[in-house]
Amino acid sequence: MLESEVQAMELLSAEVELSTSPLNSNNENERTRKTWRQRISDQVCDWDNCKEEFYLSFVGSHAFVKNRCSKCFVELRFYIKCTACLGSYCYECDQRQHLTSPFHHRTFLSEMHSKVLLPTQFVDCNGGLINQDVFVPCVAPNTCASCSENGTLRAQCGPEKIAVIKKEGRFDLTWTEFICSSCTAVISAKQSDFVASGWWPGSPNTKTYLFSMNLLVMWNHLSHKTPGTS
Ligand SMILES: [Zn+2]
Ligand SMILES: [Zn+2]
Ligand SMILES: [Zn+2]
Repeated sequence: MLESEVQAMELLSAEVELSTSPLNSNNENERTRKTWRQRISDQVCDWDNCKEEFYLSFVGSHAFVKNRCSKCFVELRFYIKCTACLGSYCYECDQRQHLTSPFHHRTFLSEMHSKVLLPTQFVDCNGGLINQDVFVPCVAPNTCASCSENGTLRAQCGPEKIAVIKKEGRFDLTWTEFICSSCTAVISAKQSDFVASGWWPGSPNTKTYLFSMNLLVMWNHLSHKTPGTS
């Protein structure tokens, strides 16, 4: 749109506003109105003024700094930073926190290195990388199928691998099973347990993929509301 047309629209809308607003007799309000060009120019100026501060803050957030663990407050020689929890953790607290939260974006930071960690990668006491199986977060059934006790099932890793697909990408995890604290029976999670937890299987008969329900909802909106998407 031509600039003259924009200015004409602004003049028209200013006239309408002044004629309908109860403040139309307020000369100060009239004087402080800015044109579109002035408003954009002020915004550019505001961004210019804080550009360096924001840049330093962004770059600094990826650097190693002397730190304490956000959970246990131990002094850290190296740490794991999580952008989902917004915390920096020692290797022990990281394991406690993220063995059951595999979808957080974590970075291992030391004075010499930084590395983005997979959901199954953790750090040992010397700062070395270790691999550990992580199960798909799943709501445990209320009742143990073996002893009929309520609330005794706890999730743990099963023997099979499974790929979980979310908006953020693919996560290679382990099928979930439940162990009963009363009768010690081990029960593999059913696909219906995953559906109840927001994960839909790629196929009812295979244990290959689980799709996040949020991803399927987003895909439904994209394919039905956005022309040209199929
Ligand atoms: Zn800690
Ligand atoms: Zn986290
Ligand atoms: Zn039981």
